[in-house]
Amino acid sequence: MTKRITHWIAGQQWSGAPAERQGEVHDPATGAVTALVDFAGVAEVDRAVGAAAEAFRSWSRTSVARRTSVLFAFRELLNARRDELASIIVSEHGKVHSDALGEIARGQEVVEYACGIPQLLKGGYTEQASTGVDVYSIRQPLGPVAVISPFNFPAMVPMWFFPIAIAAGNTVVLKPSEKDPSAADFLARLWQEAGLPDGVFNVVHGDRTAVDRLLEHPDVKSVSFVGSTPVARHVYETGTRYGKRVQALGGAKNHMLVLPDADLDLAADAAVNAGFGAAGERCMAVSVLVAVDPVGDDLVARITERMARLKVGPGCNGDSEMGPLVTGAHRDRVTSYLDSGTADGATLVVDGRKHPVAPEDASGESTADGFWLGPTLFDHVRPGMSVYDDEIFGPVLSVVRVPSYEAGLELINANPYGNGTAVFTCDGGAARRFQHEVEVGMVGVNVPIPVPVAHYSFGGWKASLFGDTHAYGPDGVQFFTRGKVVTSRWPAPSHGGINLGFPTHD
Ligand code: NAD
Repeated sequence: MTKRITHWIAGQQWSGAPAERQGEVHDPATGAVTALVDFAGVAEVDRAVGAAAEAFRSWSRTSVARRTSVLFAFRELLNARRDELASIIVSEHGKVHSDALGEIARGQEVVEYACGIPQLLKGGYTEQASTGVDVYSIRQPLGPVAVISPFNFPAMVPMWFFPIAIAAGNTVVLKPSEKDPSAADFLARLWQEAGLPDGVFNVVHGDRTAVDRLLEHPDVKSVSFVGSTPVARHVYETGTRYGKRVQALGGAKNHMLVLPDADLDLAADAAVNAGFGAAGERCMAVSVLVAVDPVGDDLVARITERMARLKVGPGCNGDSEMGPLVTGAHRDRVTSYLDSGTADGATLVVDGRKHPVAPEDASGESTADGFWLGPTLFDHVRPGMSVYDDEIFGPVLSVVRVPSYEAGLELINANPYGNGTAVFTCDGGAARRFQHEVEVGMVGVNVPIPVPVAHYSFGGWKASLFGDTHAYGPDGVQFFTRGKVVTSRWPAPSHGGINLGFPTHD
């Protein structure tokens, strides 16, 4: 019997009959189908939102101290059981175990930030704003909120949102990716163990049907989405049309600019780490290396030499550095760019199809039918080629040669995406100029994947984010609460009197 993965609603696994529609979940390293995941229809989504609405009544009134203590307990459990969660991620996503631990650590940072909610929710107070009048501000939760996440970070991306949402007094319906759904159910059980009341955190599995119902449902007050740009745009347009707050983070094409004075070994290491880590399936992966003349040949040689040494194999094998792609269909799509890039005139320096793959996983299963593509390098790439224009989301790194800093900057700023970028240089003045002039939301200086720490906020510009609030950090607190300002006075009895004029200061 194939394992069944199903929804988590009001503190329980869904006990209804298997859904009419289900999706296959694979072990990407072997290609085997390991589970079937239920796809929610309107009725299941409505049940989850109903549970969240019911739980909101009491959770939003629960003291900040009590909410914080649940957050601390969740943090402890997450930390203690991170290895188990990492193994679940590896088995469905394919990334290597150490990388799965890395995404949990970055999610845990947000949980720790949310543990500071008593401080984060403090409002302002002005005594004697007018004579005998005090004014103060408070922030209150929104209600049931939806989080819709992509396949590439099944634990971290949901944790960009739900710790702050829950700490602030909201209740959550999470719709994780159908490709690697088990991490969400694991997190739901951790919440229960941490003492979170039933219904505060719910999971519905599925696809577009579930997403669209969440976008339309009148009781869902906000939507936090992360995924590809076309879907992010759809989520933003639909969610806002239904009157919700929406933050929708989309795709990326991240450029790394290497200036002639850069430390080329550092830059080559960074390009390989950021280009091929998680098989390039990271929204902050470097997919374009912009080499300012004359460093191109030298840099390509150093990167090529490093790529040859990369160990590609199942994520559960201790010595693997890069795992498979998430599905066979995605692997085929990514691989098709090797042909289209060559046809467009780019130079295929390293062909990932020829890279050796470990023959079996840690338990002796053959990897012959796994979803593999080794690290790939294109040189002499130009805008207009599909390898440059499209978000490939795989282990394919493109090198674009430019004659100057200005030409590199112009290229980056002309790109429709603006998620992350990096500059590699030993010149502080050049780096400072770049951070000022580049039109991208997150900038690294000699740092290839500049994902902000939890007390800043994460978000790109242009087609990489729809909405005006970034994820987690101060923006997260802002997004998951709404402000209220109270103007109060306590006059002595019979100090009223009629005055139809507009209130002014005195
Ligand atoms: P995706 O857009 O295919 O799916 C994301 C979520 O939307 C999933 O839960 C999926 O079930 C749902 N979905 C898919 N198609 C839908 C549709 N037509 N209507 C409604 N919902 C739909 O993305 P993915 O393949 O899971 O993830 C990879 C993408 O996510 C890449 O483009 C990557 O850059 C992006 N991403 C962005 C960030 C960021 O912070 N900007 C972070 C991680 C991933």
